[in-house]
Amino acid sequence: MSTDDANNLNVAILGSTGSIGTAAVEVISKLYPKYSAWGLSAHSRLDQLVEQANFCGSKRVVAACRDNLAKLQTGTFPVGCELTSGPDALVELAQADEVSIVVAAIVGSAGLASTLAAARAGKRLALANKEALVIAGSLVTAAVKSSGGEIIPVDSEHSAIFQAIHAGRASQVKRVILTASGGPFRTWTRQQMLAATIESALAHPTWQMGRKITIDSATMMNKALEIIEARWLFDLPSDKIHVIVHPQSIVHSMVEFDDGSVVAQLSPPDMRLPIQYSLTYPERLSGPCRTMDWTKSWTLDFEPVDTERFPAIELGWEVARRGGTSGAVLNAANEAAVELFLQGKIRFVDIVDGCRRILNEHNYDPNPTMDELQKLDRWSREEIIRWATVR
Ligand code: NAD
Ligand code: MG
Repeated sequence: MSTDDANNLNVAILGSTGSIGTAAVEVISKLYPKYSAWGLSAHSRLDQLVEQANFCGSKRVVAACRDNLAKLQTGTFPVGCELTSGPDALVELAQADEVSIVVAAIVGSAGLASTLAAARAGKRLALANKEALVIAGSLVTAAVKSSGGEIIPVDSEHSAIFQAIHAGRASQVKRVILTASGGPFRTWTRQQMLAATIESALAHPTWQMGRKITIDSATMMNKALEIIEARWLFDLPSDKIHVIVHPQSIVHSMVEFDDGSVVAQLSPPDMRLPIQYSLTYPERLSGPCRTMDWTKSWTLDFEPVDTERFPAIELGWEVARRGGTSGAVLNAANEAAVELFLQGKIRFVDIVDGCRRILNEHNYDPNPTMDELQKLDRWSREEIIRWATVR
């Protein structure tokens, strides 16, 4: 399912075996031959990568981790498909001349280098890897500006804002309102959260997602990361980014304009829609996504976010306001803390408490280089591990 027709668009899906990646493969297969999955990448689960490459007729496949490569038999790939490996190969795929659109769907800081490479190469960046903007929003957005590329958000809230914001002028946006499902602990007390298990934190009520973002949704760190993501995508100050809890996940976010009009985007919770829109924008094509059933009764609830029970939200506003090194520190501390929680080494509430501590302790710089951000990334992870062991 790869095409040589010049009018058709080749897509590289970075992280094709993940929750977003598999949904992207499905969407692209439905939009073939206009769109084709020319390139794919994965870290582990290489058997699934082989299956996808055969299904899509991909021309280049990257095994991001060289250590996993030994388990692969190259003969299992489609004829004419090139197999490469390692972090440099990921960057090369993101920059390849044959590729028009890069779906950045790697989880965490592992996605930063390839996301930045796609931005520098002037690609359409269909961005799911929100952590890249949290870590290095100023560098990624500057790269997009100077290369003439574009970022179309895949995150459902930012896709909704991207769609709604075109109803008025950027200068007349009063605020954006990010909706949050509230996650599995929406109604839990802090006391109950002290005893939250890994299983209960992984049981998200409305979305099926990768493990890291599922835990981020339970702490509401995901919303904090999304506040920072919105700051960079829409060039908004932190006090124009609001959060509201909406348990049904039907209204994906809203934009309020100076005249008081609020424009929202609605659809069932199905990531295939924002993925598809990031590929087809400004066109809207029929595809595999679920649609609203207007013959049924619907109830849409909204409630204020409780920042006492979910202190992560305040971290989001703080980092969106301060910028500099704070995003890289928060992101790395959170990635490491989520991992420690999933290994049973810290409690659920320690994730956000640990992030707050590391953020306060770090040596803030308003204008860091990439080198400095990488050093702070390592420092934050080490500090979280040290903190978790000495407590
Ligand atoms: P996932 O864990 O399901 O998939 C991650 C993908 O990244 C896999 O293909 C994996 O092989 C690859 N990967 C993991 N570690 C890697 C490494 N070190 N180097 C290279 N590749 C690596 O994650 P997901 O839920 O699909 O999330 C992906 C991104 O999309 C995240 O940034 C997440 O915040 C964002 N996002 C996800 C959803 C969702 O519904 N899942 C919604 C909005 C945004
Ligand atoms: Mg989201």
